[in-house]
Parts: sequence; structure tokens; C-alpha cells
Amino acid sequence: MFKFCNLYSGSSGNCSFVETDNTKILIDCGVSSKKIEEALNSLNIDIKNLNGIIITHEHSDHVKGLATICKKYSIPVYANNSTFTNLKQNIADNNKIKFKSNENFEIGDIKIFPFSIPHDAADPCGFNLFHNDRKITIATDIGHINNKILHNLDESDFLLLESNYEPDMLRCSNYPYLLKRRILGPNGHLSNEDAGLTVTQLVKCGLKNIMLGHLSEQNNFPELAYQTVMSNIISNNVDTDKLRIQVADRYKPNDLIELQ
Ligand SMILES: [Zn+2]
Ligand SMILES: [Zn+2]
Repeated sequence: MFKFCNLYSGSSGNCSFVETDNTKILIDCGVSSKKIEEALNSLNIDIKNLNGIIITHEHSDHVKGLATICKKYSIPVYANNSTFTNLKQNIADNNKIKFKSNENFEIGDIKIFPFSIPHDAADPCGFNLFHNDRKITIATDIGHINNKILHNLDESDFLLLESNYEPDMLRCSNYPYLLKRRILGPNGHLSNEDAGLTVTQLVKCGLKNIMLGHLSEQNNFPELAYQTVMSNIISNNVDTDKLRIQVADRYKPNDLIELQ
């Protein structure tokens, strides 16, 4: 058994859950501890049974509830050295476990590969999670896709990929100029178009199960992200048979995804 559930996704806060028969982990902790407990309760998971929390990077939409959860439940937090150094949250030293970017580590029976991504944080990562020959990939907060990242995403049985903004909506928004430039830049976020191009390439190589996530609240909406990605796939004449594309919910858990 290898299960994934998006609990919360978007610029308002990110947190997802992965489970095997023996191991339960959270990826990021970007909403309040109360909301995370509520989401886990809805899956009949007791937060006290978590084996660890792995952190992609130190931005608040990924760590907001971290200090409270760690203090309350003493759950080990896994992050790289630069992320811990730049974290504004207070985590007890005995709860910190350091991994190195681009080197495998394990939590219980899940093997984890943290791969570097271009984003304006200290040392941001995406994650490949492996169990029983199955691969789940979490890839958000990516300024641009390169061949190395594409290789990390390839052969996933399930992929959570960022589809953050629609460029025209962002350009016309009331965001300050510097923020627009940051989001559009090579270390910002991935647009719907970029997500579409990426998914099309991966679907050509056999990817079937995709969730689009980390949508901007102001500069995107779920139907637009979905349609942009689907149009890209269809216009490239890629076989959509058995393809499953869904959009991560912002404020509530999506259905659990179970990989056979
Ligand atoms: Zn970020
Ligand atoms: Zn983020």
C-alpha cells in the first residue's frame, strides 16, 4: 500500500500526506496545526502517529504550522541545513534531522530523494518518495523546468506538479511590480503553460496520474489550470487514454490516492 493525500494546496498554505502500512509522513506544514489535525482526523489518522515531517523550503506557506506541531507532538522534522538555518520557526534541536539535497534518505519504509529546484529560497527541494517499486513526486515552487528536474519527475506513478499562475492574469493583477517580476522570473513559480508543457512531455513517456497544485489565489483558478494543461496535451496529439488529471483543493483534503 502506498497512499497520497493533498491536505491543503496553494499560495495560502501547503501540506500533503503520504502513508504506507508502516510509515506516515507529512510533506510541508504550511497551514495552522489545528487545520492539519482536522484534515488528518478526516482521514482517521492520529497526528501523534506521524513518523516525520519533510520540508521543501522555509517559505511561510510551507512551514506556518510547523513549530506548534513540533512542540505539541514532538514529531521529527527533516530538512536540509540551509532550510533549518533560514527557518524563522523555533524547532527543538532534538526534533531536527538533516538531509542533504540530492542524496537519498529514509523514513521507515519510504525512501526519499530530495532534488534541487530553482526557487528563491535557501536550498529548496522537490521530493521523490519510493515504496514497493512505486514513485510519488512532489514538485511545487519551481521557477522553471530543466532537464534535470524533468528526469526527477519522469517515471512517477503519481505527480503533484505546480501550476501556479496564468501570465496575463498576473500581469494585469494589482501585485507590485517587483513581486510580479519575482513570480515570473526563473526562480519564481511555474505557470499553467509551463505545467502544460511539462505534463505533455511526461505523459508521452507514460505518466498517467497527475495533480496540479500550488495555484495562486488571485492569478489563477482551478478550471483554467486544468484546461490549459489539457489543451496542451491534446494539441500535441498525446494519448489521453487512462489519463487522470485533477486539481489540488486549496482548503480541504482531496480524495486519497492509492497506488496499487
Ligand atoms: Zn516558496
Ligand atoms: Zn510555496
